[in-house]
Formats: sequence, C-alpha cells, structure tokens
Amino acid sequence: MSRVLVIGCGGVASVAIQKCCQLDEVFTELCIASRTKAKCDALAAKLAGKTKTKVTTAQVDADDVQQVIDLINSYKPELVMNIALPYQDLTIMDACLACGVNYMDTANYEPENTDDPKWRAIYEKRCKEEGFSAYFDYSWQWAYKEKFAKAGLTALLGCGFDPGVTQAYCAYAKKHEFDTIDTIDILDCNGGDHGYAFATNFNPEVNLREVSAPGSYWENGHWVEIPAMSIKREYNFDQVGEKDMYLLHHEEIESLAVNIPEVKRIRFFMTFGQSYLDHMRCLEDVGMLSTTPVEFEGHEIVPIKFLKALLPDPASLGPRTHGKTNIGCIFTGKKDGKEKTYYIYNVCDHQECYKEVGSQAISYTTGVPAMCGALMMLTGKWIKPGVHTVEEMDPDPFLAALDQYGLPKQENHNPVLVK
Ligand code: NDP
Repeated sequence: MSRVLVIGCGGVASVAIQKCCQLDEVFTELCIASRTKAKCDALAAKLAGKTKTKVTTAQVDADDVQQVIDLINSYKPELVMNIALPYQDLTIMDACLACGVNYMDTANYEPENTDDPKWRAIYEKRCKEEGFSAYFDYSWQWAYKEKFAKAGLTALLGCGFDPGVTQAYCAYAKKHEFDTIDTIDILDCNGGDHGYAFATNFNPEVNLREVSAPGSYWENGHWVEIPAMSIKREYNFDQVGEKDMYLLHHEEIESLAVNIPEVKRIRFFMTFGQSYLDHMRCLEDVGMLSTTPVEFEGHEIVPIKFLKALLPDPASLGPRTHGKTNIGCIFTGKKDGKEKTYYIYNVCDHQECYKEVGSQAISYTTGVPAMCGALMMLTGKWIKPGVHTVEEMDPDPFLAALDQYGLPKQENHNPVLVK
C-alpha cells in the first residue's frame, strides 16, 4: 500500500508512471501532477481499466514551493517522484522538507536562467574551486544533506539510467567483482534512428546544454576539462555496432569520485552521429542555444526555448525510432591481487519500448529506473535519511528489479577497453 505523487508528465514521467501502474500491488495510489494538467489527464485516461492503481491528476507549478506544499498536504504521499525538469529540484526538495516526505529525482539541479547574477557568482566560484564548468553540479542538492538527515527523510538523487543505473553498476562492480577499482568508463550509446535530420531524445533544452558544454573527466584526484567534443573514440557496441563517441562531463562522475575515492580515472562517453553534431554546431554558432532573452518584434524570446518549440517533441519519436541503446560501464581494477576488467551494460530496443509503453528507449531507460528506485524506497530497501546518490545504496535488489521490469544487465569479463 503506498501513495505516490509524481511531478512532471513528459517523456520520462509517462514511462515511469505506466511502469508504476504495472506494479499496482505496490503503487496502490498515484497522483500525476504537472504544469499542464491536460497531459496528466490524457495519461490517466490511457491507464484507465489497465491497472488497479488509483490514479488522480492535479495542476502544479513546481517552481512555486507553496503550490507544491499545498499539493503534498492535500494528497499526503509517502514519496514525491520529481520527474519534471532539473530546474525544479530545489523547490520540490524544500516542499518535501516542509511536509516531511521522502524525495527522488532523475537529474541534478541546474538553474533555468544561467544569466541570473546571484547564481552566476556562485557558479563562477565553484568553477574555479572545482575545475569543471558544467551548469549542473551536486553542490546545490548536497547542501540539503543535514536538513534531510535531521528530518529523518531520504532524498535519492539522479535515479534514471545515467545518472542512476550506471552508479548502481559501479556499486555492483565494487561489491561483487573488485577489491579495488582503478578506472571507470561510462559508455552511453544510442544506436537508434528516428529519420529526422535533427531531434533530441529528451528535453531539448537540457540535452543541448549538456552536449554543447566543455567536456571533463576525473583523473588522479582532480578534474581535467577539455573543449566540447574534442575527445573522440570509436567503440564496437554489442548489438549496435561501431559508433563514434565523445567525452562529455556528466554528473555521476562527480558523485562517484567522492563515493569510490580509490578510482584513478572516471570518464563518460556518449555516441553522436555526424548530422547531429553538424546541426548542433550550426545552431550554437547562430546563437540558437542561448538562454539569454532577445527582443523580437516586440516580444521577448529565449532562443533555446524557441528552438525547443520548433524541434520534434521527444515524446513523438517513439513510433519512428528503430535500433537499440547500449549503456554501461567498463572497469579495470584488482581482485585477489590480480588485475581484471569487467563490463556491465544493458541493451534496449526502441521498438520494443514503443510496443510496451508508447515511448522510445531513452525515455524508457530513464523511466524504468525511476520506477525501480521508487520501489526500493517504498519497500524500505533504500531508506537512508540524508541526501544520497544511487551508488550509496545496495545495488542488488535494484538490479534484480531492473532485470525483472525491462532493463536486464549483461556482463562481459573480457571487454575491449577504451583507449
Ligand atoms: P519533458 O520536457 O518531456 O517533461 C518535463 C515535464 O515536466 C513536462 O510534463 C513539463 O510540463 C513538466 N514541468 C516543467 N516545468 C514544470 C513546472 N514548473 N511545474 C510542473 N511541471 C513542470 O522532459 P523529460 O521527460 O525528457 O525529462 C524529465 C527529467 O528526466 C529531466 O529532469 C531530465 O533531465 C531527466 N532525464 C534523466 C536521464 C537519466 O538517465 N538520468 C535521461 C533523460 C532525462 P509541461 O508539459 O507543461 O511542459
């Protein structure tokens, strides 16, 4: 018996909610709340008659803490799943603290307006001190550790695939495969083709910000930052084939460096096709990725928001996308005094996802771990007062749930390493 409030009803939330409703003996009551209530109502209508979960809907602007507090107080959930955007992480955490409710999300905080001088000053200081310049980082949410611990509440951060499952893979490798881990390479390959010259697989604003930023990796206790897309490798992915991949900054590197401090190097690579990169570079060159408002014919327009309106809705890519994703981690390290290597990954088929929940694999590979993380919290397996990332939790029940609910792991004890 549990009552869960989901905030957000986009591509990822839609998968997570449908998966929760498949486990109606655990997720007995669920409220879908988002900025646009019509989307919540449409999903509730799609689920009607297919689940025993009692689904209700609500409108909320999660940028407004008081609105979230009012909603939590009226619905009284045990858990709030934040599957809106990273911009809402802090307001929703504040509301959870005010109401005494556990919290989880799928991506770490970043501000919507990166030109805000107050935020900018803190950001510039952090860049100098830490040595990486991505707009997102854990400092904002880690600052809530004491407050959540004192309130006896658990906040689980970044429980999608990457971040999320990739950190569970690291915890699993540490628990079962290695005495010490020397290097971790996280490889995110999307071998899917949607037939458009250019589209993003999840929220375009968040996605384009991430891939147009400088890359960075962790090496020997500090960050090494590189110009965007300047380190390229080729890798032959199981069930996908040979792909170009590029080194990016990614949030789980930051928490893994803290939580598995023995690791000498942590890198993150994502595959991109040439057409995607050409379009992105062109859009960036003409200023379309900017978050700074411009005046146009008497209206104020934020270029990246306007671009989002022009691009295909990621939720609409499902029926068109064919091919597979392959996401996982390659480790080097030692066990019983001997050097060893290990690769753990998941392969997910876009069309299979579409058949099951009407979404492509990027939303699926994020929404299923979000449901499994909520399941871990609701069944008490991952209740640990404070603010935590996935590698701090026991990976075994979570990976068993992923095996069961659509994202089974695969293992290779003799993988090709990335140079
Ligand atoms: P979408 O843009 O498809 O959906 C976002 C949803 O949040 C929409 O329903 C939107 O409402 C709602 N929303 C936005 N602002 C507010 C607000 N102020 N108040 C209430 N609701 C709001 O995004 P995705 O589903 O693609 O992504 C969801 C999250 O998952 C993001 O944080 C993203 O970064 C993360 N993610 C994580 C991954 C991982 O592996 N860890 C991978 C991919 C994504 P409206 O319909 O009105 O716009």
